[in-house]
Amino acid sequence: MDDCPGCGWPQGEVYEVLSRHLISEGVVTYTRCACGVVQVRVQPFEPAAPVSGASASPR
Ligand SMILES: [Zn+2]
Repeated sequence: MDDCPGCGWPQGEVYEVLSRHLISEGVVTYTRCACGVVQVRVQPFEPAAPVSGASASPR
């Protein structure tokens, strides 16, 4: 986790989310920084994390 090399915007703060995609490893999020730099971050799935909006029902 590094701050933006261009403007020092903290990685923990998302300025703008461009798009979000599900891949086999997790969730890929394209974000744009306040300075215009587009960043790609991959958030791996967590085993116990519930998926919001899941259509599958146990019943
Ligand atoms: Zn920046």
